[in-house]
Amino acid sequence: MNSIPEFFGSMVFNDEAMKKFLSDKVYKALKSTIENGEHLDNSMANEVANAMKEWALSLGCTHFTHWFQPMTGITAEKHDSFIVPAEDGKVLMEFSGKELIKGESDASSFPSGGIRATFEARGYTAWDPTSYAFVMDKTLYIPTIFLSYTGEVLDKKTPLLRSMERISSEALRLLKALGRNDVTHVSASVGAEQEYFLIDKEMYLERRDLMYTGRTLFGARPPKGQEMDDHYFGSIKPRVAAFMADLDRELWKLGVLSKTRHNEAAPCQHEIAPVFTTCNIASDHNQLTMKVMKNLALKHGFVCLLHEKPFEGVNGSGKHNNWSLSTNTGENLFRPGKKPFENKQFLLFLSAVIKGVDEYQDLLRISVASAGNDHRLGAHEAPPAIMSIFLGSELESVLEAVANGEEYVGVKRAKMGMGVDALPEFKKDTTDRNRTSPFAFTGNKFEFRSLGSSLNIACPNIMINTIVAEQLSQFADILEKSENLEQDIEKIIGETYKKHHRIIFNGNNYAEEWLHEAEARGLCNYRTMPEAMEHYSDEKNVALFEKNQVFNKNEIHARTEILLEGYSKTINIEALTMLDMARKDIFPAVSRFVGEISQTVVNVKKLDVGINPKSEINLIKKLSDLLDKFSTYTEELEAAVNKAHSFKGNALSLAYIYCNEVLAAMGKLRKVSDEMEQYTCADFWPYPSYGRLMFTI
Ligand code: ADP
Ligand code: MG
Repeated sequence: MNSIPEFFGSMVFNDEAMKKFLSDKVYKALKSTIENGEHLDNSMANEVANAMKEWALSLGCTHFTHWFQPMTGITAEKHDSFIVPAEDGKVLMEFSGKELIKGESDASSFPSGGIRATFEARGYTAWDPTSYAFVMDKTLYIPTIFLSYTGEVLDKKTPLLRSMERISSEALRLLKALGRNDVTHVSASVGAEQEYFLIDKEMYLERRDLMYTGRTLFGARPPKGQEMDDHYFGSIKPRVAAFMADLDRELWKLGVLSKTRHNEAAPCQHEIAPVFTTCNIASDHNQLTMKVMKNLALKHGFVCLLHEKPFEGVNGSGKHNNWSLSTNTGENLFRPGKKPFENKQFLLFLSAVIKGVDEYQDLLRISVASAGNDHRLGAHEAPPAIMSIFLGSELESVLEAVANGEEYVGVKRAKMGMGVDALPEFKKDTTDRNRTSPFAFTGNKFEFRSLGSSLNIACPNIMINTIVAEQLSQFADILEKSENLEQDIEKIIGETYKKHHRIIFNGNNYAEEWLHEAEARGLCNYRTMPEAMEHYSDEKNVALFEKNQVFNKNEIHARTEILLEGYSKTINIEALTMLDMARKDIFPAVSRFVGEISQTVVNVKKLDVGINPKSEINLIKKLSDLLDKFSTYTEELEAAVNKAHSFKGNALSLAYIYCNEVLAAMGKLRKVSDEMEQYTCADFWPYPSYGRLMFTI
C-alpha cells in the first residue's frame, strides 16, 4: 500500500471497513447515524462490536480503549485487551456490544468542578457512533463521551454534539420557513489550522521550564528574532521536512485530511491545516493531530511545543477555527454567490452570526480563555481580547443598503494587471483580507482566530453553534408566522444590522485606537482569563444554554470552577518551577561566574605589575547588584506563592491572586535573570539559550 489513496484511512473503521465487516442492515443503520445523527438501536451493538474487533485484529491489535475528552483539555484512554479466558487454559479474543457501548471509569480523578465528590467515583464513557473508531499503536480506539453517574456531562464532546443537533434543527426550521423543503440535515463544518514549534529534544531536556510548563520562564532575547520575516513561508529545512512527511503519512492513515504545511512567522514555528470536515470529526481529528505530532516529533529527535507562548519576543502559537454550515444537499449556507444583495437566505444566516457574536461576545472570549492564551491575546501578534467581526467593505455596503431600504449597486471585479503580457490574467476579489480580526468572514466561512494552539476546538465550536442556533431559532419564530415573507426577511436583516453593527470592524484590530473605539462602542474587553470567567454564569448565558439544552446551570458552574482551577494550577506550577530554577541553577551559576572573575582580579593584583583590572571589577559590581535584586525578587515570588497557597477563598479570587500577584512577581524575577544572562559567560549559563533553541534546527 504505497499510494496515498490506497493507504488513506486504512487505520479507520470507515465506510469501506464497515461495508466489509457488517451486514447490510447494520451497515445502513450505522451510516445514517453517522451522517444524519439518527439513533442507533442497541441491538445492533453486538454486531458492530464484533465487526470492529475482527477488523482491528486484522491490523494486529491486541487492545481496545474508550477514547474521551475530559475537562483536562487533553484526551484520556484506558486500554483493555481483547482476551477472555477459555476452558482449556487458553484465551479467546472477544469484544461485546456492552463493552462497545458503555465503559465505566473512575470519574473522581478527572476534574468535575464540584459536581462529583471524590467518594462518588462512578463515571461512564459511552460510545459516540457519529465519530469513527480507529487503530493506533495496535489498539482499537473508540471515540466516546464522558458523563457522571448522575448524568452531568464531564467532557467536551457531549455539549459539542448537543450544539450540533441544535444548530441543525434551527437551521432546518429557518430553511423550511423560507420554503426550502429539500434539506433534511445541516451540519457545522470546521477546518482547524494548527501552529506549533519544533525544538531539539536534547536541549528540551536541559530546560525544566519547558519540561514542566511547556514554555520558557527565563531566557534573554537573542540578537535575531523574527524581524526579518524570513521564516514565514520560508523553505523547509530537511530535518523538519522529514518530520512533516512522516506526520502527513500517519495522519492520512488515520483518515485526517492533512492538506497544508508551511513555516510560520517565528523561527522554528510551523503550521499544519487539514481540509474541513464535520465539526465533531474535525474536533476529534485536531486532538489526534496534536497527539500524533507530539509522539512523532520524539521519533525525529524533536519536541513539539503546543504551548501558546513558548518564547518571549517572538510570536506564540494559535489555532484558526474555520467554521461554516452546510446542508446534506451540499450547499454552503455562507456562500454569498455572485450577487449577495439578492441572496436573502445568505444574508439571513449572516445576520444570525452578527447578532449572535454581538450578544455573546463574552462566551466567545471565554471559550478561548486559558493561562497560556493570556500571553497572546492583545499582544500585537494575535487578535485582541475584544471580539469583533470583519465582513469586508462589500458585504457591509450590502447590509447597509438593506438597512436603508436601498438597492445595492455591486462593484465589478477588476482584472489584475501585471504589466507582463505572458502572465495569465485573473480577476481580483472584491474585498481584501484582514489578518487582524478575531472573527473574520473569509468568503464562504468564518475564521475565528483567537484560539490558543493547545485548545480543544470543541470549546469554541460549542459556543458558535449554540449562539448561532439561538439566533436562527429567533428568526424562524418570526418567519414561520410571517404573512409577508419578503418584507419580514428584509426587516430582520436591516434591523439586525442597525442594532448590531457595532460588532463589525474592518480596520486594524492590533491598533491602539481600536481599544478606545471598542470601548466607546461598548464592546467587552476581558484581558485576562479570570476577568472573562466571571461572566460564564451571567443570567443571559445560563438562559441561552438551558434553553438550547447544551448545559444546565450546574454544568456551567462546574466548568467555570474547573477552568479557574486549571488556570491557578498552571501558574502555580510555573511559579514553583521558576523558584526551583532560580535557586538551584541561576543564582549558583552567576555566583560562580562572579567568583571566577574575582579570582582573576586577585591573580592580576598578585602579579604586582601595575595592571588595574577595572573592567573585571565593574562586571563584578554589575552582576553582584543584579544578583542582589534577583534574590530579593525570588523571595517576593515565594511570598506571593505562599499567599496563594494559604488563601481560603473561592476559585475566582484565587485565580485573581495568581493573575495579579504571582504573575507580576514572576515577570520581575525573569527580567533580572534575563539581564544577568546577557552579562554572564555562556559556559556558565545553566540552560541552552534562546538563540540555540530557536536557530540550530
Ligand atoms: P487561510 O486562512 O490560511 O488562507 P484557507 O483559506 O486555505 O487558509 O483555509 C483554511 C481552512 O479553512 C482549511 O482548513 C479549509 O479546509 C477550511 N475551510 C474551507 N472552507 C471551509 C468551510 N466551508 N467550512 C469550514 N472550513 C472551511
Ligand atoms: Mg487562516
